[in-house]
Amino acid sequence: MKKYSHQREAVREALMSVKSHPTASEIYDMVREKIPNISLGTVYRNLSVLADEGEILRISTGEGTERFDATTGAHSHLVCSRCGRVSDVDLPTGELERAAERASGARIERHSLIFYGVCAECVKKGAS
Ligand code: ZN
Ligand code: MN
Repeated sequence: MKKYSHQREAVREALMSVKSHPTASEIYDMVREKIPNISLGTVYRNLSVLADEGEILRISTGEGTERFDATTGAHSHLVCSRCGRVSDVDLPTGELERAAERASGARIERHSLIFYGVCAECVKKGAS
């Protein structure tokens, strides 16, 4: 039991150390520096438990590979079509949820929003 919580903590810490929304195998590479004999399956299982418990976010961008995020507060994401990076987009969300309530008659509790486009860095590179 102790071993498992130690591994889970290492997975959580690795994810918290980056802002890049890494995939399970990217997190595996980070955790392996601390726990060389950990398996990808174990890393994935721990990510799933953490996501189910609401400790981290699981992001499905529709491009096949799931990504993970230690920032669990309400925020949206942008997937860059040039560099593939997934970055945070902070939006005032109350207004959007009210608009969705007006449009649907539902009571909105939360939402998950992914934008697709060209990230700020790639826009800059393209312009220069
Ligand atoms: Zn980009
Ligand atoms: Mn994020």
